[in-house]
Amino acid sequence: MITENNKSCAVVGSGVAGLGAAIRMRNRGYKVTIFESNSFPGGKMSSETNKGYRFDYGPSVFTLPMIVDDLFVISGKNPRDYFNYSHLDPVFRFFFEDGTVLDSPHGRKAYAKYMASKTSDSEETILKFLERTETIYNLTGELFMMNSLHKAKNYFKKSVAKGIFNFGKIGAFDTMHSANEKAFTDKKLIQMFDRYATYNGSSPYVVPATLNVIPYVEIDLGAFYPEGGMHSITTSLVKLAEEIGITIKLSTPVKEIVVENKKATGIKSKDGFEKFDIVISNADVYNTYQHLMPEAKKPKKVLSQPKSSSGIVFYWGIKKEFKELEIHNLFYGSNYFEEFDAIVNKQTIYEDPTVYINITSKLTPTDAPAGCENWFTFVNVPYNSGQDWDKLVNEMRENIIKKLNRILKTDIRPLIECEMVMDPRVIEQRTSSAFGAIYGNASNSMFAAFFRHPNFSKDIKNLYFCGGSVHPGPGIPMCLLSAQIATGLIED
Ligand SMILES: Cc1cc2nc3c(=O)[nH]c(=O)nc-3n(C[C@H](O)[C@H](O)[C@H](O)COP(=O)(O)OP(=O)(O)OC[C@H]3O[C@@H](n4cnc5c(N)ncnc54)[C@H](O)[C@@H]3O)c2cc1C
Repeated sequence: MITENNKSCAVVGSGVAGLGAAIRMRNRGYKVTIFESNSFPGGKMSSETNKGYRFDYGPSVFTLPMIVDDLFVISGKNPRDYFNYSHLDPVFRFFFEDGTVLDSPHGRKAYAKYMASKTSDSEETILKFLERTETIYNLTGELFMMNSLHKAKNYFKKSVAKGIFNFGKIGAFDTMHSANEKAFTDKKLIQMFDRYATYNGSSPYVVPATLNVIPYVEIDLGAFYPEGGMHSITTSLVKLAEEIGITIKLSTPVKEIVVENKKATGIKSKDGFEKFDIVISNADVYNTYQHLMPEAKKPKKVLSQPKSSSGIVFYWGIKKEFKELEIHNLFYGSNYFEEFDAIVNKQTIYEDPTVYINITSKLTPTDAPAGCENWFTFVNVPYNSGQDWDKLVNEMRENIIKKLNRILKTDIRPLIECEMVMDPRVIEQRTSSAFGAIYGNASNSMFAAFFRHPNFSKDIKNLYFCGGSVHPGPGIPMCLLSAQIATGLIED
């Protein structure tokens, strides 16, 4: 039962963080309105269908489901009445050019045992490494994920101080690749652990080894599959939001966040000016300053940080079933260093890319016609800095097809019966992500976490931020935590 507090809150954007923030504010008694530019909710976590194939538009790997569950719990609902998920085991299937195929079993012990039997590193070495990833999680969780980094009082919390005084132990002074190279001798194992840098759009050759927290989350805590695909998280949160009385205005782009006397006072949209006590922007922070409050003082240092990588996705309807593929498949490029050099330094695509294919029809057969599969085929590419994307997309399509044909020993070209394409221009246009970067600022330095925009405005009262472009960062769990931190900073 919600106790009304007679105050109002506007949320700009219905990405997962916007939905999370709205649900939290409504539970505190605010009258909440979400404004969304698109005719559909969810931002990157949306869905598309094409000729009988359904595709999750963006995210596909789902971890830390309890953070989603929490929104139902605080609303007095049973999350299982809204959405369900199952544990994946194996989580991933990896394909290498030399014909090696490796799985990624769930659980530290199973993973170490399996990998030791397939690589040149011992079970003990792998276990020791995975133990270190857990230590990083325990030391960094409170510091980087649960609290604002931009409120001095948080640094006096015991749990946060623990993270700060153990900066060495969390790998802050090493890069991910160099830490992985020190831990393992097996080149494939190093490459498999290096890949986790891409989870927030960074390069393993520059990102701090602190991001080795990600394998702990995926391997130990596990990856999950939401029944019906990732989009079911969005639809279940929208259902909850509507049930508890949140208004969602679709096809209603916010034109301006109105600021008077250094205080956010409301929103301007096609419906005119509406007054609100609190405004939370789930829109990309760069574009929030650039387009929604162009007169406001800008946090120049934060906004000028290098951007994360983007992606090209081919959503392919494939008229065949591939028994050798799992739900999550990765086809490794043969030279990871050159691939990241191309993406990060040369700002272009790489001719032998690492290709990720997500096939939800493996677990939700209705996502593809009988005997067929829905391939979400993704490669990392640079953010949009004016490259000739029409040319690069065509080149990449050829590179991917050549690679898959080589490894799968087949010709997939005649099997592609329909296609949709996402590239950095499309993601920019569809979700208003600055420069088409999928993950906001890049995390390519030791201090990158501190240069993400805070969850509040230092200059404008009553204005807050959530989503993948602000603290603590991108990905479904992080975005939901950003909503938790932002709303936690608001005093009733
Ligand atoms: C291809 C791809 C693969 C990914 N893979 C994974 C993965 O496997 N696992 C994972 O956890 N994460 C993954 N991510 C990242 C994850 O999807 C994002 O971090 C997360 O969904 C971002 O959510 P958000 O709350 O920041 O909002 P967004 O999804 O960015 O949505 C912002 C919303 O704000 C709206 N908006 C913007 N400006 C305005 C305005 N002026 N007025 C009204 N509305 C506005 C937009 O239309 C949009 O709906 C992936 C992303 C992509 C694109």
